[in-house]
Amino acid sequence: MTPPLIVVLGHQRCGAVKAAYYSLRDGKPLSGNLQAIVKALQPAYKQAVREGGADPVETMARAQVKLTAADLRSNRDLAPLVRNGALAVVGAYYSLDTGKVEVLSGAPS
Ligand SMILES: [Zn+2]
Repeated sequence: MTPPLIVVLGHQRCGAVKAAYYSLRDGKPLSGNLQAIVKALQPAYKQAVREGGADPVETMARAQVKLTAADLRSNRDLAPLVRNGALAVVGAYYSLDTGKVEVLSGAPS
């Protein structure tokens, strides 16, 4: 049985996104396996740079959520399920300040 819902949940003040942001901005690779995370976050970094915003690290965290949810929705195995309504992939963002979760993309209509 396929689960009916996948939630990609990003969060405020994410240390991984923050470390990747500064690594990419300053052109300073991180050590060991951390560099693999930096590489994976590069598209979100580029999107955040394009979008701007008051807090680029938060913009990047939100971009990563949306990109990851979109990747899952277009996944070869998941896309047919999304198309026929058997699966929803929701991108969301958890605010540590308010305790609230904000849906960013993919909310079922
Ligand atoms: Zn985190």
